[in-house]
Amino acid sequence: MRYDAIIIGGGAAGLFCAMTAGRRGKRVLVIEHNEEAGRKIIISGGGRCNFTNIHTTPENFVSSNPHFCRSALSRYTPEDLVRLVKKHKIEFYEKKLGQLFCKENSRSIVDMLLSECRAARAEIKTRCEVLTVSKDGDFKVETSGGTFRSQSLVIACGGLSFPKIGASGLGYRLARQFGLKIVETRPSLVAMVVEGGGWTDLAGVSVDAEVGSGKQSFRENILFTHRGLSGPAILQTSNYWKKGEDVVVDLLPEKDVGELLKTIDGNNQRIQNFLGLYLPQRLARHLAAKVPGDKPVSKLSAKERDEIAAMLHQWRFQFSQTEGYDRAEVTLGGVSTDELSSTTMGSKRVPGLYFIGEVVDVTGWLGGYNFQWAWASGFAAGDAV
Ligand SMILES: Cc1cc2nc3c(=O)[nH]c(=O)nc-3n(C[C@H](O)[C@H](O)[C@H](O)COP(=O)(O)OP(=O)(O)OC[C@H]3O[C@@H](n4cnc5c(N)ncnc54)[C@H](O)[C@@H]3O)c2cc1C
Repeated sequence: MRYDAIIIGGGAAGLFCAMTAGRRGKRVLVIEHNEEAGRKIIISGGGRCNFTNIHTTPENFVSSNPHFCRSALSRYTPEDLVRLVKKHKIEFYEKKLGQLFCKENSRSIVDMLLSECRAARAEIKTRCEVLTVSKDGDFKVETSGGTFRSQSLVIACGGLSFPKIGASGLGYRLARQFGLKIVETRPSLVAMVVEGGGWTDLAGVSVDAEVGSGKQSFRENILFTHRGLSGPAILQTSNYWKKGEDVVVDLLPEKDVGELLKTIDGNNQRIQNFLGLYLPQRLARHLAAKVPGDKPVSKLSAKERDEIAAMLHQWRFQFSQTEGYDRAEVTLGGVSTDELSSTTMGSKRVPGLYFIGEVVDVTGWLGGYNFQWAWASGFAAGDAV
């Protein structure tokens, strides 16, 4: 069977590309090895799919080439996606910071994509394993469900995160097979494991903080875990963290602890009580135990006040690793953007070969940006195949 385009991977990017190409009258086949398409969409956003972020800009993405995503993002915007979601009468709300979530559940987003694919006459083959891919003029894809040929081949099989719901690494293998460079991959948007073991006394404590790694910082909650740190500010930081680099946490970004220690009323109180005015009690107890001698605040020397201020404003964490691909929302790195056209997502070396979505070295922040990249890159390739 010969198609205009075969798309490997029936996730967010693949389905979007299929509907876009199908609407242009192209004969499209999507090959998906799971029993259903869009499984990652279904579990996303805690089951409510944070399907876009209305404040999306290229600055919300990490890539070896920060400009690469610009063209695709400008051609398919969050407003375009919102129009599509409204057309399908899916109710949604803004949770915070421009993040749009479904009111009911994520399945409505999958249903929307499947219904658009049906209307565009794109075929979707599920439970279909890719065995080999080759090119002899046309692309030839041998699968467990037969051999298919096409003029264009779109690789949309995602990254390595969440292998239990279908991540396979096939996209990187195919990129290598066709001689394309890969930027080293690693798990991201993921909790971090602290050097030397986590916390027994703090696990479960959550606090608003400013977290910085290198030049980037994020102000959101952090969560202490048995093995290290999690929470939105830590997940965001994992996109930027490099092994060996400290992550610095400011537990009271709006306060000047040094000044407070000097001026606070009733400064006969103990350190733990003082900290408990601003922080959860378990955290206050943990931090107070780090200060030698259980002195009242009024008896602290200037040096001791500075040390306590540094402990609160610049708590330095050394992480040994992340919680890995089993827990990571995304894969950082991927097919090098040097290899691809930023307008079509097509390979510069191999005519007719395209890479879209997470398999490409473009990774969004937490908050709906990764889906926006999947839609936008899927649209760019769907418009070009
Ligand atoms: C738990 C979790 C929650 C998330 N929540 C959000 C969120 O709320 N908002 C957000 O923006 N991002 C979220 N993300 C990230 C987002 O899901 C991904 O960035 C996005 O799905 C990437 O789209 P994609 O189409 O490139 O890959 P995927 O959606 O992963 O799709 C790839 C598809 O290819 C298929 N496939 C893989 N290998 C093969 C093969 N060998 N043969 C055939 N098919 C194959 C897979 O089964 C899958 O269906 C979340 C991720 C996780 C893990």
